[in-house]
Amino acid sequence: MSAVNETLIRDVVADVLARLGGTPAAAKPAPAPAAKADCGCGGKGTASSAPALRGKFGIYADANEACAAAHESFLQLQKAGVAARVKIVEIVKAMAEANAETWGRIELEETKIGRLDHKIEKLKIIKLVPGVEWLRPDARSGDHGITLEEYTPFGVVGAVTPSTHSIPTLSGNIVNICAAGNAVVFNPHPSAARCAAVAVRAYNEAIFRETGIENIATIIEKPSMESFSAMCKHEAVRILLVTGGPGVVKAAMQTGKRAICAGPGNPPVYVDDTACMKRAAKAIIQGASYDNNLLCIGEKEVFALENIADKLMEQMSQNGAVKLTNAQLDALTKAAFTITPGQGGGCGHASVNKDFIGKDPIVLAKAAGLSIPSGTQLLFAETGADHPFVVEEQMMPFLPITRVKSLEEGVARSLEAEHGYKHTSIIHSHDLEALTQMGRALDTTLFIKNGPCMAGLGLGGEGYLSFSIATPTGEGVSNPRTFTRVRRCVMVDNLKIY
Ligand code: NAD
Repeated sequence: MSAVNETLIRDVVADVLARLGGTPAAAKPAPAPAAKADCGCGGKGTASSAPALRGKFGIYADANEACAAAHESFLQLQKAGVAARVKIVEIVKAMAEANAETWGRIELEETKIGRLDHKIEKLKIIKLVPGVEWLRPDARSGDHGITLEEYTPFGVVGAVTPSTHSIPTLSGNIVNICAAGNAVVFNPHPSAARCAAVAVRAYNEAIFRETGIENIATIIEKPSMESFSAMCKHEAVRILLVTGGPGVVKAAMQTGKRAICAGPGNPPVYVDDTACMKRAAKAIIQGASYDNNLLCIGEKEVFALENIADKLMEQMSQNGAVKLTNAQLDALTKAAFTITPGQGGGCGHASVNKDFIGKDPIVLAKAAGLSIPSGTQLLFAETGADHPFVVEEQMMPFLPITRVKSLEEGVARSLEAEHGYKHTSIIHSHDLEALTQMGRALDTTLFIKNGPCMAGLGLGGEGYLSFSIATPTGEGVSNPRTFTRVRRCVMVDNLKIY
């Protein structure tokens, strides 16, 4: 991983803090908000005048103010029309790509988890998130006239973002949510809030410059449980989008508002003897090492049919992964988990040591007591199916490999490890029976066959991208339609022209 440019980060953060209440010198004068042109017919549609520049650029200390400002922007966006939504999407995609290096660095510097190359890539690919083109209305025409169903906005969406991909999630969320005509207020993860504010400010500056809309995405500067609660309660916030672990999903579902929940996962991988071992090994390494295994869709445990388990591990060793001995695995497990003894002699509960989440393989190797070649992508070891590395969503560049005797056992173990999150599962096989059985049994939102996990989000597979995959609530890979109300408009007996 290349060194982080601390001076650059300090400059960016200092600039943001210094400018929080002031008007940036570089900002161009505000244009009039994009408004529907007066067609000259003498009708009532008129362009409104430009809003005064208040210099907050979306960053608020108070949750209620952030929600109110977002609501005002929603009303402005409604007036400005679809052209302004298109513009916002273009701006966010272009800026995420142009700022990928700087923002990737400041996110890594703040969170200290993951890999710089992948933090940068996650911003460059925001262009794969779908926009306004996804909102084509459905029409019906028949003997009784025509009916149009349109995808219309809710108003303000209250969003929570994770520490694992703060700016990418926020950027993708803005694209989806604003393409659908909404505004958004963010309660970001406290340990990734400063970098999120840098991006929100930059987006708002550019969006204001181009459209005259000032606070289309607002952010709570110092997020807390209280600010989350205030955001959820605010009357302008019509729906919630939470991306995170079990705690925030539960909290969002208890608010009484509709919550779109992109929840936790623990994706299992099953490999059988019909797969190409080299291809499977490479794909597993690629997915599990991505951003040091911070992806919720990332490969977290492998169940390998016993007759190919050795071959698979051999191929993993030949393709950038390093195998741990039992003693090294024990040492790493002791460092990476805290085991709370179970009641009545039970095996207890393992909780992940946060100091190891998203850390480089070299850090894990040190804890395991070995030195590894530079460029090592991933560590792995053979474990039992009840090992903490299998059971817990560990988010580290380490993969446990468990032997299974049959397809049935592989599917059953995978189902158990997935905990019913219905998030992501992966298979390497060319046996149609195995592909079908695993797909049906796991019942996950993403089911990837013969590729790395990211193929499920359009990276190497067909499809589009979002960093918010709504799993327990069932909306799937979020897209602009996820944030719309479907409204029907009916013309009786007329306007059918055939
Ligand atoms: P996290 O759950 O610690 O935090 C996520 C967000 O929720 C943060 O903003 C945090 O401040 C907030 N939060 C946590 N508990 C809360 C509570 N009780 N009330 C209100 N807010 C609360 O998650 P993280 O470590 O930042 O991210 C990793 C987790 O997110 C993993 O479980 C991963 O699988 C999941 N994730 C899911 C998706 C998806 O698309 N399904 C995407 C990314 C991450």
